[in-house]
Amino acid sequence: MTKPGPLSLNTITVREQWSLKDCIEGCARHGITGISPWRDKLAEYGVANAAKHIRDTGLTVTGLCRGGMFPAADAAGRQANIAENKRAIDEAAALGAQCLVLVVGGMPSGSRDLAGAQMQVRDGIAAVRDYALAAKVPLAIEPLHPMFAADRACVNTLGHALDLCDELGEGVGVAVDVYHVWWDPQLSQQIKRAGKRILAFHICDWLVPTTDLLLDRGMMGDGVIDIPGIRAQVEAQGYAGFCEVEIMSANNWWKKPADEVLRTCIERHATVV
Ligand code: ZN
Repeated sequence: MTKPGPLSLNTITVREQWSLKDCIEGCARHGITGISPWRDKLAEYGVANAAKHIRDTGLTVTGLCRGGMFPAADAAGRQANIAENKRAIDEAAALGAQCLVLVVGGMPSGSRDLAGAQMQVRDGIAAVRDYALAAKVPLAIEPLHPMFAADRACVNTLGHALDLCDELGEGVGVAVDVYHVWWDPQLSQQIKRAGKRILAFHICDWLVPTTDLLLDRGMMGDGVIDIPGIRAQVEAQGYAGFCEVEIMSANNWWKKPADEVLRTCIERHATVV
C-alpha cells in the first residue's frame, strides 16, 4: 500500500473548539499542510484576513465548504440560492480553493417531490457553472448518504453525481467522502467512471452503532470503512491530492482539546488511512 496523500483539516472537525484563525495556527503548529474552511467561520474571520493568513502560512486550501442547497419552494428562493452560491464561488476564488464543495440540498419543506428537487439541483448547478468556470473554481458535487436525501442532499450516490457531471460538463466534478459512499455496491465501478473528475477525498469513519444521523462521525480506524481500500481506488484514477479529515462529532471529538484531536488525526492518517 502506498502512503496516503498529505492530510488536510476540514475545520468542522474542531468546530466547537477553534475559530478559523485558531485552525490555521493549529495546522501550522502540527505540520498539517492543507485546510478546508467552512463559510460561517470564514465570514467571522473575514475573507481577506483568512486568505492572507492562509497564504502566509503556506497552506493548501483543499476545498471551501460549502455551496449547494439549491432547491427552494419558489423561484425567488431558487434565485437567492443561486446568488448565495456565486458569493461562495467568489470566496473560494479569494482563498485559491481547489474546489467549492456542493452539498446540493434536499426537498423544500413540505414537498414530497424528490425528482423535482433533483431537477432543481441540476438547474442550480447549471446556473452557476459559467460563473465558477470564469472564477476558475471547480465545483465538487458531494453525494451524501441517502439518510440525508430529504434535508441536505438529494444526490446520494457517486453514480448520480457523475450523471450530473456528464450532463453539466466542464468545471463540475465530485468530492468522494468515504462516510457517504462506502456502502454503495457500485462504488468501485463509479470511482473508475469518475476518473479525473475526483476533486476531493474526505475521510472519517462509520461507527457501529451510529447514534446521530449528522453528528456522530468516527475517527479513522474507529469504524467499519475500508479507508485504504477506497483510497487505493481513488488514487488508481490519478487522484494525487490531499486526504481531508472531516469529522462532525458532537459527543466525542468536539468535546476534546483540539490539539489532541489534531494529534489523533495525524496518527490515524499515518496508520489506518
Ligand atoms: Zn465531506
